[in-house]
Amino acid sequence: MKMESSHNLRMYLCCAIVISLYLCTRGTLGSQLNISNNEEMPSTAVDSVKSIRMAEMTWPDIKSAIEQGYTTVVVAVGSTEQHGPHLPTMTDTRIGDELAHRVAIKLGHTLQARTIPVGCSRHHLSFPGTISLRDETLRMIILDYIDSLIRSGFNRIVFLPLHGGNFPIVQATLKEAQIAHQGIEIIGVTDVTKLLDCMNAASAEFGINANESGAHAGESETSIMMALEKNLVIKDRFAPGYVGLTGEKELKIIFEQGMPALTKNGVLGDPRKASADKGEIYLDRLTEFLIQEIKKQSH
Ligand SMILES: [Zn+2]
Repeated sequence: MKMESSHNLRMYLCCAIVISLYLCTRGTLGSQLNISNNEEMPSTAVDSVKSIRMAEMTWPDIKSAIEQGYTTVVVAVGSTEQHGPHLPTMTDTRIGDELAHRVAIKLGHTLQARTIPVGCSRHHLSFPGTISLRDETLRMIILDYIDSLIRSGFNRIVFLPLHGGNFPIVQATLKEAQIAHQGIEIIGVTDVTKLLDCMNAASAEFGINANESGAHAGESETSIMMALEKNLVIKDRFAPGYVGLTGEKELKIIFEQGMPALTKNGVLGDPRKASADKGEIYLDRLTEFLIQEIKKQSH
């Protein structure tokens, strides 16, 4: 098995990743915002921004935040697709949304735009509940997001494509948009190999190999969902899916014939060792990884 193939598989199949930063254990959002390392803003301005989720804000408050220097916006790109018999179809979107939120808080002076809830999931379509966009549809949605966010006044737009099937189209679209909008920083964390290395390193610490940790609804993703949405995780249905080698041959099968050709229950990996505690650790590691990648790409 080539590691790269395994990485690609994990990237294409799902892999929503999240960060954990429980507001309830760390005080109010106002105080969260004060943890920002951004030195460009006076601290007095920070306190007037009560939420960073634009979906929960009014337009005057968004306008005011942007005027106070909240000129970066983060958008997660999720999916609506089967995640085995034990996880909900919103898994990637839920994880992506949380991740974007936590990244936005840690970046500082950053708002969060509505997560794109549907992605490119063709290979999951034979499982009921999966909704898939055509590549061109997702491209158009991303371009429209960018146009709209620029109109709002943002000058740095960060996309987090956390569902594997979205990575290639997000990457290509951001490149296209950057050419069209030279004065705006358009950033996407699209180095999936590094991201998966981060995940696998955490799995290894738990004594869980990459095949169990899994590309889709395996131990890692299940652990993260246990940390975030324990009431939506059906533990008595935990069962291994495909846990063999995942090389070029397996990739070809999945993309040409769909997931059921390799896994009858829709799982790649084994969720049986999943736990919320491990989910928290995955989230922390991934948050840090994403922050570092975003900083590297920032001017
Ligand atoms: Zn997923």
